[in-house]
Amino acid sequence: MDQTLKGQIALITGASSGIGAGVAKSLAKAGATVVINYPVASSQVAAEAVLQEITDAGGQGMTAQCDVSQEAQVEAMFSDVVSRYGTVDILVNNAGIERNAPFHEQTLDQWNAVINVNLTGQFLCARAAIREFLRRGPRPEVSAATGKIICMSSVHELIPWAGHVNYAASKGGVKLMMQSLAQEYGDRRIRVNSICPGAIQTPINRPAWETPQAMSSLLGLIPYNRIGQPEDIGNLAVFLASDLSDYITGASIFIDGGMTVFESFATGG
Ligand code: NAD
Repeated sequence: MDQTLKGQIALITGASSGIGAGVAKSLAKAGATVVINYPVASSQVAAEAVLQEITDAGGQGMTAQCDVSQEAQVEAMFSDVVSRYGTVDILVNNAGIERNAPFHEQTLDQWNAVINVNLTGQFLCARAAIREFLRRGPRPEVSAATGKIICMSSVHELIPWAGHVNYAASKGGVKLMMQSLAQEYGDRRIRVNSICPGAIQTPINRPAWETPQAMSSLLGLIPYNRIGQPEDIGNLAVFLASDLSDYITGASIFIDGGMTVFESFATGG
């Protein structure tokens, strides 16, 4: 097993499926002890399955139920993790949802649901992590940085998205939250960065890839001509969590097979 993150505790939100599960497996493979967060009792079985796969491969960790949009639950989760493992070194703010509708039909409930999980959830977890990093101080034996936060943003912090205004607004908010945190805590050696995935094959965007027609139209947006996989994001998360990226903070790293070079202009027309 790779030992890049040996001795470090990583908490990944929304890790019972998709990108979060992929990131948890990659961080565990790199030697981190992982906390696999899931939101509700119905996702416990899936979270335990992710943990089982990790322990079968020689890794270690725990599962933790918590709705990241609920302050008391976030506080309780961090307190449980610190009691069990002593601290947290890496937070991956990954949990996210979509509630899509044409803007003029969008309900306040749809707007609030997305903002509460995708933006307020990232605020609550980042605040809890930074409080823990400041309480604990540096751990030079495991990392040059006192703590690392990785925010799961999206290409939609850059590309506007009709029909998904709440989602795009949440990711735009994540961008400036991430950069402001990097600015505010850089002197305490806390690094904060975002991963901005393009199309990754997970449950959140099933309609975009589940039929051959949908896949073909999706690939029309991706110069590299394949859909991304959770492991692609996991590899980047390991790099951003490790000292190999020690001089990177306040950055949005796009990982999208070239989606943000705007394939529709490829013919120069
Ligand atoms: P997914 O639906 O598999 O994962 C989202 C996870 O968040 C689920 O495990 C879900 O249980 C969890 N979650 C939802 N509400 C929660 C809450 N209140 N508290 C805790 N966890 C909660 O989809 P995914 O594609 O793996 O999405 C992960 C992240 O990646 C999201 O932030 C999403 O916006 C982002 N993203 C995905 C893509 C993509 O193409 N799949 C592209 C860009 C960004």
